[in-house]
Amino acid sequence: MRGLAKVSRTNGAMELVERERPEPGSNEALVEVEYAGLCGSDAGIYEFESAFERMELPTVIGHEYTGRIVETGDDVSAFSVGDRVVERPIRGCGDCYQCSIGEENVCQNAVITGVDHDGAYERFVAVPERALHPVPEGVDPMHAAVAEPTSIGARAVIENSRVSPGDRVLVEGPGPIGLLTAQIARAQGGTVVVSGVDQDGTYRLPLAERLGLETINVQSGAFEERCAELTDRVGFDVVFDTTGHPSGLPSAVDAVRKGGQIVLVGQTGETTMPYSPLVRAEIDLQCSYASMYEDFERAFRLIRSGDVDCETFVDDRFSLLDADDAFEAFVAGETCKPVFDVTQLVQ
Ligand SMILES: [Zn+2]
Ligand SMILES: [Zn+2]
Repeated sequence: MRGLAKVSRTNGAMELVERERPEPGSNEALVEVEYAGLCGSDAGIYEFESAFERMELPTVIGHEYTGRIVETGDDVSAFSVGDRVVERPIRGCGDCYQCSIGEENVCQNAVITGVDHDGAYERFVAVPERALHPVPEGVDPMHAAVAEPTSIGARAVIENSRVSPGDRVLVEGPGPIGLLTAQIARAQGGTVVVSGVDQDGTYRLPLAERLGLETINVQSGAFEERCAELTDRVGFDVVFDTTGHPSGLPSAVDAVRKGGQIVLVGQTGETTMPYSPLVRAEIDLQCSYASMYEDFERAFRLIRSGDVDCETFVDDRFSLLDADDAFEAFVAGETCKPVFDVTQLVQ
């Protein structure tokens, strides 16, 4: 079978490679992949950012996906052939202190599908039973492929933020995590504004508007005045930084109200800023990383209820047979959440 793999440590360098169909181990199920999404971290692998130096190459990438179980190992008891599933792709070891106390999202030895071992841009993946999550009835398969990033947004908003009805919320960054976070913050009762830059003007900010969200371009000149207007000159109660850009935190500090909360979701690398204003305004600085079982449950309910509008959000224009197109468009901000039909890899 063919899989789309990162093959060398340079920008681009994605190729279709031949792989054996895996044999599931005793505690694994073999999943026939139907749909797989393209994530910001997949684009990070495409550009080969330093966070991915640890990868052994070639590795088939892809970690946001859905499919059906076609075979189960002898010790698999909770799933059967034919079940529709997604994977929780950041796998805790089950043994370390964090896993023992129920914080496997910050496991000391976590491994990530599509980074540390072959991922879902191929027809079949063998997955340990404890990393599988059932897809509930009534969820379209193409939408189920977006459950994983939705769970990241669900964790950021529901578990790690204090967004409450009537709160004024700014989500910085109209990428996939930003637009999911924004929809969930709205479902939680917030009045939500999404900010982006000029590059987001072609696809991502218009998409935010199609999702019914208010938008601001931070490079438009009138940004500060708009924020002041929208918040009666008080500032936002909660600001989510999903930009992954060094400017995200400093601009969150400018936009949040005194006594408000900043939730860091994007991974920025490094930034330099004065932090006394944070202390003097008693800003609550909260991080949110990955997601767990409960976040996936919430993600599926939000998708099924339409609070997360996957029909509008998903971009099905791209193919794994011509994946450079999708990656280049993603990096240029000309798409937000490509979802591939993985069955196209059948030869
Ligand atoms: Zn992802
Ligand atoms: Zn662990």
